[in-house]
Amino acid sequence: MVGLLSWVASLYVPGRQYGRGQAPEAWKGHGMPLIQLVATGGTIASRSTAAGRQAQATGAELLSRSTIPEGAEVRVVDLAAKGSFAWQHSDLRTLIRSAREQLAGEADGVVITHGTDTMEELAFLLDLVHADPRPVVFTGAQRPFDHPAPDGPANLADALAVASSPLARNRGVLLSFDGYVYLARGVTKVDTLSAHAFDAPGRGPALRVADGAVSALTPAARPPTLRFDHGTAELPKVDVVPLYVGADAAGLRAGIEAGARGLVLAAFGAGNANPGIVEAVRDAAADGVPVLVCSRVPAGPVVPLYTGGGGADLLAAGAVFGADLNPWQGRILLTVALTLPDPLAALRVWLEADTTKEVRA
Ligand code: ASP
Repeated sequence: MVGLLSWVASLYVPGRQYGRGQAPEAWKGHGMPLIQLVATGGTIASRSTAAGRQAQATGAELLSRSTIPEGAEVRVVDLAAKGSFAWQHSDLRTLIRSAREQLAGEADGVVITHGTDTMEELAFLLDLVHADPRPVVFTGAQRPFDHPAPDGPANLADALAVASSPLARNRGVLLSFDGYVYLARGVTKVDTLSAHAFDAPGRGPALRVADGAVSALTPAARPPTLRFDHGTAELPKVDVVPLYVGADAAGLRAGIEAGARGLVLAAFGAGNANPGIVEAVRDAAADGVPVLVCSRVPAGPVVPLYTGGGGADLLAAGAVFGADLNPWQGRILLTVALTLPDPLAALRVWLEADTTKEVRA
């Protein structure tokens, strides 16, 4: 254990950088980093059409406009070509399978180009099931492929540099955008159109990329993972229930009637609801439908503090508190947990885990 810790600590060298022309040491012994690029569409691949923007550019086209870190080899797979807003659960399984296939080979890292709209959900999903030290790095763009000043080429160059860097290892899945690299857990889209599209409120970035050089801002630490069999596990329906002044429980109850196997509350503040919602949560929990409490506030954990419809009542009604996960990432966690034999145990173990072991709940 001590050996493992010191090995992990040795990966963190504050201020250590790998710039152009300094290919980082290879990890799999073939002398140069091999990066697998998986293209899935999004704005980074979009061109204007009469009907609106459409993802069309292939991975090879994206690569031809970008910069490959010196000494690195990049291989390309075109997995999909669509907006990330159109992704379905079946696509998620395909993406997990593809990422695993890339890592089953010799790749030192994987870069996935994807639409920004749902990137935080997919990155977190892969992170949850990614029990491997090698980096998987998401990136995309806010301006399209055929824009006169696109941001995609620089974002892709940065993501390739990150995937080639030993500093990215043992951090789970990453999201690289506009020079900053975030752990999947906690990253969220914070601007609809600006090139600085992402942030991790309350957490901040983990790495920085400047002129092709990667530097570490935080020590590496592997996030916990959950088992997921992409061949057989069906991703169940999980609804997010938004809280707002005067909200009633009609949506929540309708969701369960429509087949939701789990619910995520986008609760007020530090995890509060109202008495009507608490009653509905009590009924759901009693019927075996897990309810995860997250907050509609961008930063900070949820804590069961208040009665009168607040978090203390939600806890007493059987809800689970989702730490500082936003509702969208909380929904992904609950969805994966529901594919396991004991979803509540999986949720609790994952939420309490600080380190890196696969959660065998
Ligand atoms: N605005 C989005 C993007 O960046 C559209 C999408 O998510 O596909 O790519």
